[in-house]
Amino acid sequence: MAKRDYYEVLGVNKNATDEELKKAYRRLAKQYHPDANPNNKAEAEAKFKEVNEAYETLSNPQKRQMYDQFGPDGPQASGFGTAGGPFGNGTYTYSTGFDGFGDFSDLGDIFSSFFGGGFGSSRGANRQNGPRKGADLQYDLEISFEESFLGTERYVTINRKETCPTCHGNGAKPGTKPETCTVCHGTGQIKQVQTTILGQMQTMRTCSNCHGTGKVIKEPCETCKGRGTVKNGVRLSVKIPAGVADNQTIVLRGEGEPGENGGPKGDLYIAVHVKTHRLYSRKGNNVFCEIPITFTQATLGAQIRVPMVDGTDEIYTIPDGTRNRNKICY
Ligand SMILES: [Zn+2]
Ligand SMILES: [Zn+2]
Repeated sequence: MAKRDYYEVLGVNKNATDEELKKAYRRLAKQYHPDANPNNKAEAEAKFKEVNEAYETLSNPQKRQMYDQFGPDGPQASGFGTAGGPFGNGTYTYSTGFDGFGDFSDLGDIFSSFFGGGFGSSRGANRQNGPRKGADLQYDLEISFEESFLGTERYVTINRKETCPTCHGNGAKPGTKPETCTVCHGTGQIKQVQTTILGQMQTMRTCSNCHGTGKVIKEPCETCKGRGTVKNGVRLSVKIPAGVADNQTIVLRGEGEPGENGGPKGDLYIAVHVKTHRLYSRKGNNVFCEIPITFTQATLGAQIRVPMVDGTDEIYTIPDGTRNRNKICY
């Protein structure tokens, strides 16, 4: 059967944002969940798998790029390991994409209720061996009212895991290499065959010799103690756009922690907090500034200086007989 275009499967256009993909995916996954379609389970199941496969590829920036470039039968077929048949890595790594996305927990339940049991264990093993996105990080940044109005560039220092510079992330002492695990022959999984009254059942479990990584490090790198990453303070520049609102989040893609097994880096979420100002406040897109005037100024009229947020002044002539809480606009 010819594969349908992944974008078509999800009903989005080629320029869809991550957010649009996620939305389309959530909607379709619920719609085609086999439990929700008791009357045509087989068809729903096929659709459900198709939707998962499409999302699994398009939600991963690297795979999406490959897909855009080469299509479904491009290098992906060999590059992204589909060993294990339709339920192998190719289909299952999507679960790893959820790390850090709390709002997917309801879908997690859908998957476990649908696939449950035997697949659960092989998924667990795949997770360890397959590409995993690095952790997302959060940073709270306080800026002044003026900065929020005019926009600014700030430098922040993030404490994050970085790929170890000594071993370049493989965890082995320079001059040595991680060796392929001899117990599982690098697959990270051990096949177990059980004989039951229903016949032979094959299950997979994580290899305990290599903890599912498929590799064994004989001599660990001294810098990172074999972990492949080190904690580092990293200085980053953050561009704050003019008009940023209090509690708005700025996302720096790929500035989170490194992924594992070739997975993409996590993202950095900067939560912007705008300090309250002595003179100004913001309501929607308007800035309010209160200027007290004296009774005499109100009665007789006067010229006052109105401080603008950008540091300039405007002269305003108060007509005589001005009432309290009069508003003037710029
Ligand atoms: Zn190292
Ligand atoms: Zn092993």
